[in-house]
Amino acid sequence: MTTGPKGAYRPSIQRFTLATAEVTTILDGAHLRDAIRPPFALDRSDAQIAVTAAANNLPAHGFENTYTPTVISIAGQVVLFDTGFGQGGKAGNAGHLKGRLLQAGYGAGDIDVVAFTHMHPDHIGGVLENGVPTFPNARYVIGRREFDAWYDGSQIPAQRAQNRDLFLKLIVPLADRMTFLEDGDTVVPGLTALAAFGHSVGHMMYRLDDGGKSLLVWGDVTNHYVFSLQYPDSPVAFDDDPDAAIVTRKRVLAMAAADGLLVSGHHMPFPAIGYVEQHGAGYRWIPAAYQLWI
Ligand SMILES: [Zn+2]
Repeated sequence: MTTGPKGAYRPSIQRFTLATAEVTTILDGAHLRDAIRPPFALDRSDAQIAVTAAANNLPAHGFENTYTPTVISIAGQVVLFDTGFGQGGKAGNAGHLKGRLLQAGYGAGDIDVVAFTHMHPDHIGGVLENGVPTFPNARYVIGRREFDAWYDGSQIPAQRAQNRDLFLKLIVPLADRMTFLEDGDTVVPGLTALAAFGHSVGHMMYRLDDGGKSLLVWGDVTNHYVFSLQYPDSPVAFDDDPDAAIVTRKRVLAMAAADGLLVSGHHMPFPAIGYVEQHGAGYRWIPAAYQLWI
């Protein structure tokens, strides 16, 4: 055995059981960004950002954006929430979902339902591979308002023009296998779609209720575990409708904290499972620990 440096090693798959449902979170990838503001806390000063970063043992010059789709196996159905970057992410340390699904015990053909939170590239990029459905047996569920907004295009911000092209290329061809969801609709027994508009025009989240235990898959209600939670009412450049996103963020964070909900968040630090606690004027992310296994 040599004793030289081995390089970083980071976990990328985690699984636990609620009551009957198995929940697997899988890291699709990670990107380094060279500033915190923008995108976050646009109404705060650099000094405030630096203080908050230091208080959380984080650098002030940038952040790591991680992408963690969730898989829920319940009642004989395997539901994948969002599809990562797919082939488009491979050059930049992302797009690992499909390979890691296999490591986690799921072949692409095992996915029964792909449930989209919204239509941004890190959530839809992996749905097709060379123009062919990546998950050949899947049906798709998507918020009706989200699909209609991207199809129509008039409410899509100019900086999302390339994203709209991606939607037209990847999502529209699958429309005949899609179910369009309203707030409160059931996806599979125990899994409810909930409106969480703002990060995108028709962003949805999903609540799993399983034998008295719950999990909220909140997608991009928050995009950073510190800056989104401590400044829930600050505008964020990632949000397509910033005002609606603030209202939703405050509503969902308040609910998660009050109800002690277990949460899976696409951009929370891996394994992207945790709780929300009130903290000053905002909130704090509490990563889950051994309570998942006992
Ligand atoms: Zn995202």
